[in-house]
Amino acid sequence: MRGRSLVAAALMMAATAASADTARTWSEVARPTLGQAAAIGSAAAGCVAGAVELPLQGAGWQVLRPQRNRFWGHPATVAFVERLGGAAAAEQLGTILIGDMGQPRGGPMSSGHASHQNGLDVDIWFRLPIRPLSPTEIAAPSETAVVTLAGLDRARWTPAHARLVELAARSPEVDRLFVNPPIKAELCRTAGHDRAWLAKVRPWWGHEEHFHVRLSCPPGSGDCTPQKPVPDGDGCGAELQSWLTKPTLPSPPDRPNHRNPTLPAACAEVLHQGGVMAVSVKGR
Ligand SMILES: [Zn+2]
Repeated sequence: MRGRSLVAAALMMAATAASADTARTWSEVARPTLGQAAAIGSAAAGCVAGAVELPLQGAGWQVLRPQRNRFWGHPATVAFVERLGGAAAAEQLGTILIGDMGQPRGGPMSSGHASHQNGLDVDIWFRLPIRPLSPTEIAAPSETAVVTLAGLDRARWTPAHARLVELAARSPEVDRLFVNPPIKAELCRTAGHDRAWLAKVRPWWGHEEHFHVRLSCPPGSGDCTPQKPVPDGDGCGAELQSWLTKPTLPSPPDRPNHRNPTLPAACAEVLHQGGVMAVSVKGR
């Protein structure tokens, strides 16, 4: 028994090391692949070919923590952020702050998210500064949570937040977005008659200081795994009520990532293209 449990422990340690290596490997690749863009696999087990970078700032947006090198995505994701920034600027909602998108070739991240792997995810902060942040603030930004354990923080939640989430949800390329449940409840309360966009606003754990936007599989991404469609209706009924009764805060801290998703075979090609990484995809 003892020998067997030692073997089991050794196997577990090996598996943990391999999964950490996998995420670290993807995180070490500094540049995207060249050629045709394609989202491959799913948000939680995928990668992206031909990713492009979101410029670190533009009309209406700034990229946070550029030192993480997580400002890459499918061109559709970059175009979405640029459009949303432009719309936010036109409506004077404040500067939208872009948190993590994806790594240059997507894939698992060495810390934090399980998703953000196939170039279609982007985190957008609820903090909406009127003036652009300085480089120091950009490198180590402070967050604005709009939900606390007591519920929606009405001193911090503003119509600009509601409008920004609505603009994102109304974007046809957006599949869904995730917010903490009291935010969805507030949007349900304040939305008018035209409320079909609310279906895309999904209650989820955390997401009290940012919302997470996920695009649909773009045209030309045949290896992209679509999400199950969001449920019919505005999602303001029983499902939301059930979320409101369970604890969804605080968000877990950004820990090292030991998840080890099985990636589509095409991702091995993406990782190795150009000979940038002369290592194998471990743990597959
Ligand atoms: Zn996210």
